[in-house]
Amino acid sequence: MLLIGSHVGYKKDTQLLGSLEEALSYGANTFMFYTGAPQNTMRSPIDKNITNKAIEKMKEYDIDYSKVIVHAPYIINLANNSDSSKYQFSINFLKEEVARCEDLGIKYLVLHPGSHVGLGVDIGIKNIVDGLNQILENTNVTILLETMAGKGSEIGINFHEIKKIITGITNKKNIGVCLDTCHLNDAGYDVKDFDKLLDYFDEVVGLEFIKCIHINDSKNECNAHKDRHENLGYGTIGFDNLINIIYNSRLENIPKILETPYVGKNAPYKLEIEMIKNKQFDDKLKEKLAD
Ligand code: FE
Ligand code: FE
Ligand code: ZN
Repeated sequence: MLLIGSHVGYKKDTQLLGSLEEALSYGANTFMFYTGAPQNTMRSPIDKNITNKAIEKMKEYDIDYSKVIVHAPYIINLANNSDSSKYQFSINFLKEEVARCEDLGIKYLVLHPGSHVGLGVDIGIKNIVDGLNQILENTNVTILLETMAGKGSEIGINFHEIKKIITGITNKKNIGVCLDTCHLNDAGYDVKDFDKLLDYFDEVVGLEFIKCIHINDSKNECNAHKDRHENLGYGTIGFDNLINIIYNSRLENIPKILETPYVGKNAPYKLEIEMIKNKQFDDKLKEKLAD
């Protein structure tokens, strides 16, 4: 079954119910949200009543909540420990984030592995592994390492780095991977032959680790190390290649999440999900959304 959705907002007053309603308004049957603003670590308490209402509503709409995704804020950096208080803050925050996922009944938490900022890849990976092992000690939440574009000193820019992190994790049932099509392209992988890329991923890491896929076109050429998302069909990957990824039979039942940019003030997700369901590129998408 095609599981398609986008990242959606999460507000203090409407919480999970608000996120769900936004997803439904796009015609989505799955979604991803941050438990607060993605760029900061301010988080408000979770209201059990709202969570329960949202879960009831998901049953009505046949949404498989076990595959709904939370994304950790991207200022968390487990790779650099040169400032030990910042490193410890990242670990503590992620522990709290995992606890919030448990409260919400969320199974999958996407994480950017981090940037080593001068320490080198090996030390960066060691820091990530040490941090994750503390966080994953005692939980049923699975952390999904996102494949990164290779901006600055990011870690997780190739499958071998992802594999090295997974190798270091004690609790392997609590670790997985989130592929991001824009990041793969920008990191230098050819996403136009996705079957070949999946064979290679299977060889290095193992397909069974893939639990989520971010579907984004890219503003930049392959290997640009940039990380700038583009609306489907408007970038260098192209609509047909993205459709092939979305409908690849080996990725069936894995949630596909759009993180494409707003056009002006307007979310593109309803129209992009329509394009995906129809397998038909709409070259008027940006005109329709322009305000
Ligand atoms: Fe991400
Ligand atoms: Fe992503
Ligand atoms: Zn990105």
